[in-house]
Amino acid sequence: MDYYGSQMSKLIEQLSSLPGIGGKTAQRLAFHIVHMPKERVEQLTGAITDARNNVRYCSECYTLTDQEKCPICSNEARDKTTIMVVESTRDLAAYEKTGKYNGVYHVLHGAISPMLGIGPADIRLKELMQRLQGDVREVIIATNSSLEGETTAMYISKLIKPTGIRVSRIASGVPVGGDLEYIDEVTLLRALEGRVEL
Ligand code: ZN
Repeated sequence: MDYYGSQMSKLIEQLSSLPGIGGKTAQRLAFHIVHMPKERVEQLTGAITDARNNVRYCSECYTLTDQEKCPICSNEARDKTTIMVVESTRDLAAYEKTGKYNGVYHVLHGAISPMLGIGPADIRLKELMQRLQGDVREVIIATNSSLEGETTAMYISKLIKPTGIRVSRIASGVPVGGDLEYIDEVTLLRALEGRVEL
C-alpha cells in the first residue's frame, strides 16, 4: 500500500537506491527535502546536476576535478618529481588533509584483484607509466593495505624498478585491510614518513 502518494514514494525509492542509504534514512531524507525551502532544494539538485555534468578526470593525475587539470597538478609550488600512487580520489583527499605532502598524485581508480577479475589494464596504470617518461624521481605507492592493495603495490614496483626511478611503499602503520580515508592524519603522516624503499 502506498501511504505517501506516488511522488513521495518515488523520491524515497530514488534516495534508497544510493549507497549506504537504507529505507528508513531514505524516508527521513525525503520528509526533510519536502519541508525544505524551495530555493534550498534547487541548490541541492543544481549541485548534483552540475557535478555530474562537469566532473571529469584530471588530464595528469586522473583525480576527479571540474577542470582540465586539478588544482594540485596546476599548482606550481607542488613537487612534480614525486608521485604518490593512490587507489581513489578519497585516498588523495585523506593525504591532502594532512597538509604535509607537497608532491603530486596518481589515482588508479581501483586495485588489481584477480578474484574480482580486475587486471592491470582495468586501472590507470598505463597512464602512470606514461607519466614516468617525464622528470620523476620517486614513486610512493600508497595503495591500501588490503590484499588487492598489496598485490597492486607489488605489481607496480616490479614495473617501475627497471626504470631506475626510486619506488617506495608507505609504512605498515596503516592497519591491514584499512581504507586510507578512515585512518587519522597522524597515522597517515607516520606511514608516509616511514615509507620503505622497495
Ligand atoms: Zn591532477
